Amino acid sequence: MWKLCVCLCVFAWCLHAMPLRKNNSLGCNKLLLVSFDGFRWDYDRDVETPHLDQMAVDGVKAPYVTPAFFTMTSPTHFTILTGKYIENHGVIHNMWFNTSTTEKKPYYQTQFVNEWWDNGSLPIWITAQRQGLQAGSLHFPGTASTYDGEKAVVSEVEPRFYNYSNETAWQQNIDKILGVWFTEKKLDFVSLYFGEPDSTGHKYGPDSDQRREMVKQVDRTVGYLRTSVENNNLTQCLNIIITADHGMTTVHRGSGVNEIVLYKIPGFSFQDLDFHLVDYGPSGLLLPKEGRLEKVYNALKGAHPHLHVYKKEEMPPRLHFGKNDRILPIILWADLGYVINGYFPVQTNKGEHGFDNGDMDMKPFFRAVGPAFRKNLIVEPFETVHIYSLMCHLLGITPDPNDGHLNATRAMLLSSEERGSADNNNSIMTRVFIGFGAVSGFLLIVFVVVVTHSIIKRRKQIQRAVTCEKSDSDDKKQTSF
Ligand SMILES: [Zn+2]
Repeated sequence: MWKLCVCLCVFAWCLHAMPLRKNNSLGCNKLLLVSFDGFRWDYDRDVETPHLDQMAVDGVKAPYVTPAFFTMTSPTHFTILTGKYIENHGVIHNMWFNTSTTEKKPYYQTQFVNEWWDNGSLPIWITAQRQGLQAGSLHFPGTASTYDGEKAVVSEVEPRFYNYSNETAWQQNIDKILGVWFTEKKLDFVSLYFGEPDSTGHKYGPDSDQRREMVKQVDRTVGYLRTSVENNNLTQCLNIIITADHGMTTVHRGSGVNEIVLYKIPGFSFQDLDFHLVDYGPSGLLLPKEGRLEKVYNALKGAHPHLHVYKKEEMPPRLHFGKNDRILPIILWADLGYVINGYFPVQTNKGEHGFDNGDMDMKPFFRAVGPAFRKNLIVEPFETVHIYSLMCHLLGITPDPNDGHLNATRAMLLSSEERGSADNNNSIMTRVFIGFGAVSGFLLIVFVVVVTHSIIKRRKQIQRAVTCEKSDSDDKKQTSF
């Protein structure tokens, strides 16, 4: 027994002396940025969204966030990736254009125009890789381009004709990123893009049943993502940010609507322009011919009660959309619900974005969860330009010069002391469980050995007794014979 006691003491001391396993804050630290295109801040209000609700309980939620202006897909996504306002990163429109040749390329083709994206600002993939991390991107706007000769080490661009709403494909992409990219390929940062609920919002309008159904699909996908994080043992490693590029609003239709058609405005003529970018939603850019800027401007300014007309140099500073060579001399945008047409009302979408980023309908949602984030916390709304600083902080990299600041999002983060304490608690609990299990196992082995030993000993005694009895009996037989 005293030997057994010594063994147990030595065993307990060994357990105590075992070093605490380094957890996520030191050992692994990954970040997933997810964008659900056009997910307006309040889309979870008229649909059951149990998984998004649970994510808010487990992490952080902002009531809404403010995107950059123009509230368009490529420009606002590039703001998230660079931390710069659109006038400072230069991806000023979904469309590439050349004012000399009047050539234009739509959204998808523009993804492959390298010089449109590689314009002096590095997205976070490149910044992370230059500081020793590995980045990946799936379908995120800007993924196809190289930046200063580099691109994300693992990347995937959707094909030309792609079904952006296929839920099975969404799950397969999640499986790929969590089961392969983060685990097998050991990536540190991945950006993941979904083209919904934007497409459905455009086609059917933000107040449609179809949009509500698509939000349910987004919610299921968030649930699938979080389960997949657990299944891949990434819960303690992976921080997740889910947000969007802009919101969506209903376009006014019908005979009573005073449509904005530039051609009909007295004194305005397309003959006075060298180039124009209208018929793409509620915003527009005009390049007047030499010497005709004042004429064009004066014809348009105040011509329609829902049309805003600004010279580039007079743009309201709050919009951060004036100081870039690519921005044309006259900038137009419409009030919520109106779109800008050139010659005829050619636009058929029931929902649109691109409006003033101060309009509530243009604000996207924001959720974050993971080991770095507080739980069950609603933070103050902030601008999406600050997400870049937050991501750099989470990854432990030095940000490139940008327009955001970590102070805007710092409240959502656990302090290093709190993280250390949480990590320590987890480690202590883990060690207690391991110790309890090991001691129990050890005692079980001892019990089995002792019991087995007793049984064998008892059997031997019985056997010996039987042998003695038999020998006595033989002796008796011989005597009686
Ligand atoms: Zn978009």
